[in-house]
Amino acid sequence: MNLFLKNYKIVLLISIFFISCNTQQEVTVSKTTNNKVSTPTKKVKNIIFLIGDGMGLSEVSASQFYNTKTSNFERFPVIGLSKTSSASDLITDSAAGATAFASGIKTYNGALGVNTDTLAVKTIVEEISKIGISTGIISTSSIVHATPAAFYTHTKKRSMYEDIAAQLVTSDIDFFAGGGIKYFNDRKDKRDLILELEQKGFSINTESLPKNTKPDFNKKQGYLLASNGMPKMLEGRGDFLTNATKLALEILSSNEEGFFLMIEGSQIDWGGHDNDAEYLISELIDFDNTIGVALDFAELDGETLVIVTADHETGGFTLAQDNGDYNKIKPVFSTGGHSATMVPVFAKGPNANDFGGIYENTSIYNKMKSLFFENNNN
Ligand SMILES: [Zn+2]
Repeated sequence: MNLFLKNYKIVLLISIFFISCNTQQEVTVSKTTNNKVSTPTKKVKNIIFLIGDGMGLSEVSASQFYNTKTSNFERFPVIGLSKTSSASDLITDSAAGATAFASGIKTYNGALGVNTDTLAVKTIVEEISKIGISTGIISTSSIVHATPAAFYTHTKKRSMYEDIAAQLVTSDIDFFAGGGIKYFNDRKDKRDLILELEQKGFSINTESLPKNTKPDFNKKQGYLLASNGMPKMLEGRGDFLTNATKLALEILSSNEEGFFLMIEGSQIDWGGHDNDAEYLISELIDFDNTIGVALDFAELDGETLVIVTADHETGGFTLAQDNGDYNKIKPVFSTGGHSATMVPVFAKGPNANDFGGIYENTSIYNKMKSLFFENNNN
């Protein structure tokens, strides 16, 4: 047995002890939370949409067993299930999965913002920008990776990273944070997209999130903090995702018309592809903490809907029994790829009830769009 599994057993034992000691308290907390849900008198002004890439129900369950804190997933009163198949395949990839959320269509694996005929389809970012709503994207991969890219690009192949980066320059995105500097300033066509973004009114930072200085609220903000994907949590990414989320919320919420913020925990998926439970779980816990930031904001604000889901599950991940011992959990993978299982959808805030039930991934786009336009027409 390697050191990592031993460590997990210790954490697991502590978790079981914690859970068994706090059963009564947990019941009380969850009842209180449920009473605060869905204030029907308020409308949706803002949506925070969190995508745990590759995050199925076993991955979410890991946040209970391997996190020393109570999982933020337990704060959601409404849970649904999303069917993730793409137009081309029973098992989707991240590009078709994110296009379903961003544009409300089923397309082929590898497609970003285009339909099965490779024709561009409108994204929610394009649609809501027209009615004055601010938009932001945050990712722990590069900002041109499939999931964030689906919200601002129309590209027939997800691997066309330099084309995707060029489309960010002319997009309606107001705030972005993630990795991918090289696709902006070390390109085959020699264009300097950092400069072009600045000419479009962006303040671009390639060093760090602002530490003590206030960001310039009059400018759009872009943070490119790694050459390609951001580092793993296990390799020192630290609190990038939570801090970028706090920053984005501070900036975007200054718009009285409302905002849409997409936040991706990209590397839950990468841990699944690597069949590396320690990698997966560390990324999942970082994502869980980020959900906490979003929920804290939304609970105070009262007009913000928080939705958490996944594009698909990765790794066929299971929390299995260990060698016949039902008191020990052994993380197990059944594939190095994605799986077809439905993924959970969590919602809290005004109109959260719309997200209960079982539906296609494209419905999430339809629900979000109609909430933004309903609000705008009244
Ligand atoms: Zn994915």
